[in-house]
Amino acid sequence: MTDPLGVLREVFGYPAFRGPQAAIIEHTCAGGDSLVLMPTGGGKSLCYQIPAIARHRDGRGVAIVVSPLIALMHDQVGALEEAGVHAAFLNSTLDAAEARAVEEEVRTGRLTLLYVAPERLLTPRFLAMLDSLRERGLLSLFAIDEAHCVSQWGHDFREDYLGLSVLHERFSGVPRIALTATADAHTREDIVARLQLEDARLFVSSFDRPNIRYTIVEKDNARSQLLRWLRDEHAGDAGIVYCGSRNKVDETATWLAAEGFTSLPYHAGLDASVRRDHQDRFLREDGVVMVATIAFGMGIDKPDVRFVAHLDLPKNIEAYYQETGRAGRDGEPADAWMAYGLADVVNQRRMIDESPAAEEFKRVQRGKLDALLALAEAHDCRRVRLLSYFGEPSTPCGNCDNCIAPPETWDATEAARKALSCVWRFAQHPGGPSRFGAVHLIDVLRGKVTDKVTQFGHEALTTFGIGADLSEAQWRGVIRQLVAMGYLHAEGEYNTFELTPDARALLRGEVTITLRKSAERARGGKRGEAKARSSAATAHLHGEALERFEALKAWRATVAREHNVPAYVVFHDATLAQIAQIAPGTLLELADISGVGAAKLERYGPDLLEVLDE
Ligand code: ADP
Ligand code: ZN
Repeated sequence: MTDPLGVLREVFGYPAFRGPQAAIIEHTCAGGDSLVLMPTGGGKSLCYQIPAIARHRDGRGVAIVVSPLIALMHDQVGALEEAGVHAAFLNSTLDAAEARAVEEEVRTGRLTLLYVAPERLLTPRFLAMLDSLRERGLLSLFAIDEAHCVSQWGHDFREDYLGLSVLHERFSGVPRIALTATADAHTREDIVARLQLEDARLFVSSFDRPNIRYTIVEKDNARSQLLRWLRDEHAGDAGIVYCGSRNKVDETATWLAAEGFTSLPYHAGLDASVRRDHQDRFLREDGVVMVATIAFGMGIDKPDVRFVAHLDLPKNIEAYYQETGRAGRDGEPADAWMAYGLADVVNQRRMIDESPAAEEFKRVQRGKLDALLALAEAHDCRRVRLLSYFGEPSTPCGNCDNCIAPPETWDATEAARKALSCVWRFAQHPGGPSRFGAVHLIDVLRGKVTDKVTQFGHEALTTFGIGADLSEAQWRGVIRQLVAMGYLHAEGEYNTFELTPDARALLRGEVTITLRKSAERARGGKRGEAKARSSAATAHLHGEALERFEALKAWRATVAREHNVPAYVVFHDATLAQIAQIAPGTLLELADISGVGAAKLERYGPDLLEVLDE
């Protein structure tokens, strides 16, 4: 039997398996079924690609990979062919002649991997082709990528995935491996039932992404906060900026472009051709910032996305983790950064309240939002909270904002009570509306005489001016956290406040609350370190090594264009950086570098040495 580790080293040029890869691959090579849960960037593709290669070498024919995403198929096949593995896809982008040529490669069993969309797989013609392969012992395995698509509970249900139970019924005995990055317990059970994987082995990886640094800041002026952060830490890097609405995407993309970034918008309101073009540029060009709604990202496996920023609060922790997970798939340092403020909290709460959904559903949504808000307001390790949300215990990580610079906290019980009693006084006060929003509340607490204060006679309130000791920003922080923690409830067109039943306990002095001090740019100091970190793959390169790196990148860009693949498919940044650093003089030395497999060595080795020579 072909040795999987040998395949990893020879074909992909990597020295060792990561985490549970070895066990999963061994199980699949031996013919077992499995369900693999691994976070984005964990290295799922190799879990079926290596068994496919090994079994092909052992005379077992073609592996069928079911994938919902056409763009992804194209790039995966490109990357495999670059590595010298015979792979192809069948989907609607091929014309009849091209499709026939691929089918011929399948029939003869010459192909190692075939990527196919579920709707194509389920056609009678395709199934008949598989029957014939199987009769001749040339059907090596089925890989079902993005397996959560089979679940109605998942966030990305695809009708066609339901038909995949046919794989078990019609081709029993052919090993199946289902893979996904997002499956809570509920979704997991669903996948097992619908794909009939009851006897499959379950492999669950840690969901930790240690190379991602989590930072959540209070919104002050979100645009200038983002700009400063991008300039300081991610100049020239590729990244994604998520916004809550199409309008905001358009505005933000235009604004970033005016600030000198290569930024492109992406949302469902743009023409399909524009979306495709922007996605292509993001994948193929260096340093593109994609400004997008959540319509963007599924199936983007660009490894060198250095940051994911959120200008608006995501829906829940699952969404946050999935979106931020798109950063740093190459294992190099990457950032997840989010700015959030009072309006985010209020809007998300209101969206749930006003949705026409059933009360039970809303209750679940509220619970999920609460968990996300608790993460945002946390004073302790963000990663511990994230992982514990997914049921994984851990210890403080040392690589999130709170670990790096523990926030100062203060006893805000008194301030919170002042704010709550002021809201209560509004309701008791005759001759005006009973509810007001944050701006007026803060004015009254701070004792500011505005037209509105005069109009409603609020100078007479006992709470007028009792909070002059705190700044406006501090009060905004207090109120935001009170809404986040469920003591205040905002409603209506003007987001006016009322007390929730929980507020009583706080007013009666039965609870104390500790809040994080408003940062107000408290964090200076660690700039230099952050900067050195930003493009870690190349951070240690200086002088001649840096020149070599630039020359190698220029060479890679030419090759990528010629082969019509993204640059990272030719070589990752980390691989080029290592080559630039070591400056190997022979093919043998070059072969030692992680990411240089046999096929690439043969194809590109001489050219690389020549680039280095110059
Ligand atoms: P996923 O599909 O789980 O999101 P990928 O399969 O795209 O992750 O892998 C993420 C990155 O990690 C890829 O660039 C891949 O080449 C790299 N990778 C995977 N396994 C290894 C390994 N054992 N050693 C080095 N790099 C690896
Ligand atoms: Zn931490």
